[in-house]
Amino acid sequence: MKKIQTQVLTIFMLLFLVFGAFVVFFSTRLMQEYANENQKEDLIQQSNLVLSNFNRVIEEKEDFQDLKEQALKVKEYTNQRITLIDLTGTVIYDSKIEDSSRLGDHSSREEIKAILEGESQGTAIRTSDSTKKTLYYVAQPIVDQSGKLVGVLRLAKPLAEMNQLNGQIIQSIATFSLLALVLTAGITFLVAKYIAKPIEEVMNVAKKLSNKEYHARFSGNGYGEVTKLGQTINELAESLEDQMREIAQNKERINELINHLVIGVMQLDDQGEIQIVNPAMCQIFGMESNELLGKSYVEATKSYGLSHIIEKAYRKKEIQNKEIYFYFPTERIVDANVVPIAGKIKGEMNLIVLLYDITEIRRLEKVRTDFVTNASHELRTPVTALKGFSETLLDGAMEDKGILKQFLEIMLEESTRLDLLVNDILELSKLEQKQVPINYKTVGVKDATLSVFKLVKQKAEQKNITMNLIEQDNVEIEADKDRLKQILANLIDNAITYTRSGGTVNVILKKTEEQATITISDNGMGIPEDELNRIFERFYRVDKGRSRNSGGTGLGLSIVKYLVENFNGTIAVNSKIGLGTTFTLTFPLRHF
Ligand code: ADP
Repeated sequence: MKKIQTQVLTIFMLLFLVFGAFVVFFSTRLMQEYANENQKEDLIQQSNLVLSNFNRVIEEKEDFQDLKEQALKVKEYTNQRITLIDLTGTVIYDSKIEDSSRLGDHSSREEIKAILEGESQGTAIRTSDSTKKTLYYVAQPIVDQSGKLVGVLRLAKPLAEMNQLNGQIIQSIATFSLLALVLTAGITFLVAKYIAKPIEEVMNVAKKLSNKEYHARFSGNGYGEVTKLGQTINELAESLEDQMREIAQNKERINELINHLVIGVMQLDDQGEIQIVNPAMCQIFGMESNELLGKSYVEATKSYGLSHIIEKAYRKKEIQNKEIYFYFPTERIVDANVVPIAGKIKGEMNLIVLLYDITEIRRLEKVRTDFVTNASHELRTPVTALKGFSETLLDGAMEDKGILKQFLEIMLEESTRLDLLVNDILELSKLEQKQVPINYKTVGVKDATLSVFKLVKQKAEQKNITMNLIEQDNVEIEADKDRLKQILANLIDNAITYTRSGGTVNVILKKTEEQATITISDNGMGIPEDELNRIFERFYRVDKGRSRNSGGTGLGLSIVKYLVENFNGTIAVNSKIGLGTTFTLTFPLRHF
């Protein structure tokens, strides 16, 4: 801030001192010369006066010696040294020296010589041999009536006296100069301040802008061009602020986008350190972002496959793509893409690593292929049986009425199973392709249960199984009535199927503020604990023989689970071998 002001002040002062010194030097010289001239003039005038006195004496007395007396008189009126010299150069009289006879021949003195040579005036500056002082001499001729030169009058004044006067002049000029210097310094200080202040303000604004303080503005208090410069800086600041806001918004948008991407994104710098990482990537690595940022990819990825393709991308500077298996923190299959991009510094290479979790896709693909395999396998059993029995009959067994009847009954049973199987497969695929329209209505679960009880009544009676509906609350849910009945029928039918004769099947209905609960429990054979989470899989049977004998397809619970989840419900199972099984369905209750 002070710098410009000091610089301006220093430059002004230096200029002033240089010019001032010139002015003082030359004016002193001029005034000195002028004063010297004046002194000389004065001395000449005095000598003229003395000379006129002498000339009068010469007119009256016509005697050069009388001049001495006259000189003694004149001495009273002037301070200057008066010397009278005759034509031989001999000093007749000297007002400062008593014994003039000891003064030598003066004819060779410059001023005297000039007069003797016919000049009207002679001057000289010289250190006097007699007085040892530097004097200024003025000589003039003394002439008689006829105009003939009779002697020389010389007046002398010590140069020191003249210089004393000059000294006074110099002193006055110095005092004046000093005053002028102080005044100029003051004015320059104020002017410098006036000039420097707005410039410094503009500089400060520019400095703040470079320090990313984009709100900084010039106040507008300046002059001429500086004000224009300030206004331009303000416009620049405004545009910078706008651009920075836009950049910040874009950055925020990109961050939001990256943070909400289901694909794992990470950026690596030239050294392989993680610069950017999104939540999806953190989830794949099973680490927090602060644990990952700044770390080397080798430490962070914990996957040889991924490290290998990253290293390959660095080496080959080419996009790399590979399906990679992760075993930690959970088993995952990811589609990894590693894309080289230019770094901040020229020549530097960064990498963008994109991991797309395809575990679910691969699982579904596997489910689908498994389904096809299982379905073919399941279908082959009744088809093989039908083919085998019909061939055996055709080979001659049909001649035996007893065998014919027995075989035909088996064939009917197998074709019924085939029918059931094909129906269940079609049902599942229709449901998955959303081909069956679902009509949502408020359905009373009690009525639906009772109508299912009617359907399975005969089967239950055959096994002497008691079915109870325990309605703790009046439960109504939002669902498709036929589909709800399908769910209940499957579960109640299973409960009857897998419960020994004389058993009990209970259906309990209750609700809370938020949800309705339907519990279907039996005291049947139960399901082994390690198989509980598999019973909802397609074609999964706990005991293959047992299920097939009971006419099961292994698809019932898959259909149930699919439907329950379609009504935003959940299904859970609890079972103990030999004690029984409980299926619990929960559905959200809608409040109108
Ligand atoms: P299935 O048509 O063979 O009954 P599900 O999908 O309905 O096929 O059932 C899958 C398997 O779960 C059955 O094979 C059976 O072993 C077992 N299971 C289902 N319900 C019960 C139950 N209430 N008690 C014991 N086991 C059951």
